[in-house]
Amino acid sequence: MAVISDICAFLDRFAPVELAEDWDNVGLLIGDAAVNAKKIMTCLTVTPASCREAIEREADLIVTHHPFPFRPVKRLTRATPEGRMLLDLISAGVAVYSPHTAFDSAAAGINQQFAAGLGLVEIQPLIEKAASHGGVSTGSAPLGTGRHGKLPSSQTLGKFVQCVKNFLRLNQAKYVGNPDRTVNHVAIACGSAGEFLSEAQAVGADCFVTGETSFHTCLAAKANDTALILTGHFASERFAVVELSRTLAREYSEAVVWASEEERDPIAYG
Ligand SMILES: [Zn+2]
Repeated sequence: MAVISDICAFLDRFAPVELAEDWDNVGLLIGDAAVNAKKIMTCLTVTPASCREAIEREADLIVTHHPFPFRPVKRLTRATPEGRMLLDLISAGVAVYSPHTAFDSAAAGINQQFAAGLGLVEIQPLIEKAASHGGVSTGSAPLGTGRHGKLPSSQTLGKFVQCVKNFLRLNQAKYVGNPDRTVNHVAIACGSAGEFLSEAQAVGADCFVTGETSFHTCLAAKANDTALILTGHFASERFAVVELSRTLAREYSEAVVWASEEERDPIAYG
């Protein structure tokens, strides 16, 4: 039976914490690393719904993409949703691990999976991580923030939007640009990554895919004639949490592993 420290070591090989951004809060954030992990739940975010599910199904470990807690905790009471979740998880003995930006950037991380899933070729990091940042690439897969690559053959933006929707199983996605324009070179950064639009343009991408961004970033994309596709933050990352549950299930076949069935995108489309 694996103990939590074994699983932390595996996750650190899969998504080395050295790859995380300096501002991030990654690794084992709650719990006793010496405890056995018989049940493991992955999720995108610890929310009241996913927290309740983990406790009801007696998870020993939650692997959440988004760190919880993220900010320093100065007061731990039941007066806030965050305080209630922390107290409930600690009382129930549920540990919490977050790989976050290490998972975004890892060799087989979210952005790599996203780029491969869209059929891109010659996939490279949008921003390369220096070798000092845990240069432990598995195989030949690249390390770094975001990804960019070429489409095997040019497509119209309208057709490529459909391709993104198909991969993420979305009914709709927002986009900026003429649907009849041609797309050849695509940059990707999961989550809320409009700040990387200039990097996407710098590597010569004619289309940038991210989860969400500001109106002004949309205007900047339009002004620079870069197509922009916004999938929603949840959809841009949730698929990788499901895939991570499969990876953990393969590695720890004696454990019960599942991706949260209760967490939902809080944003609805009317
Ligand atoms: Zn995110």
